Amino acid sequence: MKAYEGVPGIPGQSPRISDDMARTWADVVATARRSAADGLVVGTSGNVSARVGDVVLVTPSGIPFDRLGPDDLVGVDLDGRPVLGEAVPTSELPMHLAVYRATDAAAIVHTHAVHATAVSTLVTEVPTIHYMAAALGGPVRVAPYALYGTDELAAHVLAALADRTGCLLRNHGTLTYGATLEQAYDRTAQLEWMCRVWLTAVSVPGRTPSLLGPDQLAETAAKLRGYGQPG
Ligand code: 13P
Ligand code: ZN
Repeated sequence: MKAYEGVPGIPGQSPRISDDMARTWADVVATARRSAADGLVVGTSGNVSARVGDVVLVTPSGIPFDRLGPDDLVGVDLDGRPVLGEAVPTSELPMHLAVYRATDAAAIVHTHAVHATAVSTLVTEVPTIHYMAAALGGPVRVAPYALYGTDELAAHVLAALADRTGCLLRNHGTLTYGATLEQAYDRTAQLEWMCRVWLTAVSVPGRTPSLLGPDQLAETAAKLRGYGQPG
């Protein structure tokens, strides 16, 4: 494993990395595994990353998440230059880095979740079937299709994310980000759930689901700021 500058490895041994970095990598692996366990990805689909200072820890490309361990850590800088690990980073590195460079994201989750991917082929924006759209910043856009792993896809995703913390990728899947891996993951789960609700409602023959308007989403957004326990 390549050592991170400032925490050099001992020749012949795994390099020392900061406790923060090791903890975050364990979180990245746990989040990636959870996405497979929850059925949001199959095989080697999807990828997860988290930012620690100027280093982005990312899942390696083409390795099933259940095979990842502490030694498979991959770190790159914000320009994609490798700084940690030997494995090839996710093919979606351009997309992850574009989001880190342009937003305050600390973690990103990309999946091929079934209902969200189905919805990505039907609409240009997820219909506002539920107030939880407000938790992602408003109506969730669908980024136009581009080949996986390309700068073009990264640009489409970034545009779709304006004032949002998640989007769909047409004929591909989902991307959400957050201040923590848990938050990014929860946003993916909510987005997939919302897409499932819409598909369920819209498939009732002869009926059209009611949708929420901008005022209803705005009042939800305001109320959600005080949601849960104090602090
Ligand atoms: P990686 O295995 O390279 O992360 O690719 C999976 C994927 O979802 C590409 O869009
Ligand atoms: Zn993908």
